[in-house]
Amino acid sequence: MRNFEYVRAGSADEAIAAIPAGSGAVYLAGGTTLLDLMKLDVVRPPRLVDINRLGFDRIEVFDDGRVRIGAMVTNTDLARHDHISRVYPVLSQALLSGASTQLRNKATTAGNILQAVRCGYFRDGVSACNRRSPGSGCAALGGANRNVHAVLGGTDACFAAHPSDMCVAMAAIGATIHIRGPRGDRDVAFTDFHLLPGATPWKQHALDEGEIITHVTLDAPLAHSRSAYLKLRDRASYQFALASSAAILVVDGGMIRDARLALGGVATKPWRAVDAEAVLKGQPPTVQTFQRAAAVAFEGARSYGQNGFKIALGQQAIVRNLSSLVA
Ligand SMILES: Cc1cc2nc3c(=O)[nH]c(=O)nc-3n(C[C@H](O)[C@H](O)[C@H](O)COP(=O)(O)OP(=O)(O)OC[C@H]3O[C@@H](n4cnc5c(N)ncnc54)[C@H](O)[C@@H]3O)c2cc1C
Repeated sequence: MRNFEYVRAGSADEAIAAIPAGSGAVYLAGGTTLLDLMKLDVVRPPRLVDINRLGFDRIEVFDDGRVRIGAMVTNTDLARHDHISRVYPVLSQALLSGASTQLRNKATTAGNILQAVRCGYFRDGVSACNRRSPGSGCAALGGANRNVHAVLGGTDACFAAHPSDMCVAMAAIGATIHIRGPRGDRDVAFTDFHLLPGATPWKQHALDEGEIITHVTLDAPLAHSRSAYLKLRDRASYQFALASSAAILVVDGGMIRDARLALGGVATKPWRAVDAEAVLKGQPPTVQTFQRAAAVAFEGARSYGQNGFKIALGQQAIVRNLSSLVA
């Protein structure tokens, strides 16, 4: 048993002050990732700063179509919000495909963005893992890497897939993450927030120590768009994605006028497939067009052994999802 201190913050400034530089203290939101990792002895924070009473639990729809989502809005409340499910079905569907009802009731928007990778070698607390123990190596290279490992964006230092479904939808929609910290407020574009592992996989995102996510703002929806999330996995529920696709399409006069595409389960961060979007734009919405875009999305993909099948599966996820939008 490792002792830790528990502090309940009443405001964002109080929360930030409770995490002095070098303290190793962390914020506690729903706890569904953090408490697991503490029980596994993968993380050992000496202090938890509970941020459940900061009031960051509201969803506001602006006149210009953007939506502001408080960091503490639960995955359930976000998925079931009337405006979200009507205007951003891709986000609702992604959220509802994740975890279980009980977990979604606790899991928060910021916690979901900051959830840790599901690589078994990271979570066992003892294997070589550059993410958990910098410089120790990567046991997944040549190890069990079928389910939760990436074919895009990885390196020999780490190729664990980013596990979130919600983030894949947000990457497709476009969003801004709002951050407050000891040095004031700042904003980061959603697609810049998660970092590729490169040679420093322990640095997973753009947050500095003590900084807190206060809210996320979704871009306004594309006019006359349709959107959907497709998650492929070994069993139909309570399972992380092997490959997933978030797609937003605007089709007019028999042509694709605009397209947004993002991938999950196959990449080390929520993966916006910009080059594939360019292939779609200005083309007829046919299976052949979708197949060409899917092939471009996986250009440069690398198999690490057991996970090579994801290169074909990910392309099928794109083609099936896009086809469903124009059926
Ligand atoms: C069995 C299981 C199955 C799952 N399946 C899926 C799935 O299929 N798809 C999916 O997408 N997810 C899945 N998840 C992950 C789940 O979505 C995350 O655990 C959850 O979203 C984390 O949110 P939380 O509020 O509980 O975060 P916490 O556990 O409270 O926090 C996670 C991390 O974020 C930090 N943090 C939290 N809020 C803030 C903030 N506002 N500012 C700065 N730092 C903050 C914490 O310090 C911690 O490091 C699963 C989890 C479990 C346990």
